[in-house]
Amino acid sequence: MKSDLVKIVDLKKHYPIRSGVLGRTLGYVRAVDGVSFEIRRGESFGLVGESGCGKTTLGKTILRLMDPTAGRIIYDDTDVTKVSGRGLRKYRRAVQIVFQDPFSSMDPRQTVASILTEVMHVNGIAEGQRALEKAIDLLELVGLNESHLFRYPHEFSGGQRQRVCIARALSTDPEFVVLDEPTSSLDVSVQAQLLKLLKDLQKKLDLTYLFISHNMAVVRHLCDRVGVMYLAKLVELSDKKDLFLEPLHPYTQALLSAVPEPDPTVRREGVVVKGEPPSPANPPSGCRFHPRCAYAFEKCPSVVPELMEVNNKRLVACFLYDEGHVRETG
Ligand code: SF4
Repeated sequence: MKSDLVKIVDLKKHYPIRSGVLGRTLGYVRAVDGVSFEIRRGESFGLVGESGCGKTTLGKTILRLMDPTAGRIIYDDTDVTKVSGRGLRKYRRAVQIVFQDPFSSMDPRQTVASILTEVMHVNGIAEGQRALEKAIDLLELVGLNESHLFRYPHEFSGGQRQRVCIARALSTDPEFVVLDEPTSSLDVSVQAQLLKLLKDLQKKLDLTYLFISHNMAVVRHLCDRVGVMYLAKLVELSDKKDLFLEPLHPYTQALLSAVPEPDPTVRREGVVVKGEPPSPANPPSGCRFHPRCAYAFEKCPSVVPELMEVNNKRLVACFLYDEGHVRETG
């Protein structure tokens, strides 16, 4: 088995809710609330869930674009949770992010040459002519070329702009890249081309991906393992194949029942989730999914289910998989 490159231990990111001139703290929005998992070297780890479940905040916290409230981030056996100065700069070179909206993540007044060489300059990678040569190599790597070097972001199509963003992320020679819904703002045909590019780059450059998405079909195409988040917590973690074949958590079942099944011999039961996701400022007691869960029983509103191992190293946070429950109902 591949070794772990990233290890997240009980990570939390809470935002205070303040009010009045004195800024009194009324409560906290628990955007990420005690999440633990590992990402193996060279894999694509998918993180899925409805919008607002905390997956983007989790990705940014792992990269230290925001400081965690509690918990630890271990990268390549080094605790980077609190590193600063040189240590943080070194970490930021090794880890990069590609955002959902390529247009808003680039300065419209900078040419592609300036966007790419600036990152190299700031990170001490290359300067002057050497940086320009590396910028051309990067453009060719992502399917563009030298003729695009002195163009501005508005002169590109959406797909080309995202290719520039991928080139920018690769300009520090990272090992680990967070892809935050990188194709969701693009047409389906352009999405397919970009997903192929990301797969090819991963192989060629030996990259490790954290792929954040609400699109299960895209996750199925790109990822090796998948973590499912609901209201700031991880509720299931599994190999992609097992997850798509037999989702365990009722929330995962609901997410997958909305995805068209490519194999006509596989029939998936439609699972309907009631209502809207509750606010992370005031999450439901016990299992956070209980107000929307069709299988909820007495224990669910009062006890928090922890992630437990079932069926050959799969993890799920649901009392339906408690041995005791299976005995009682079986
Ligand atoms: Fe549903 Fe209970 Fe399982 Fe939560 S613990 S998902 S409420 S059955």
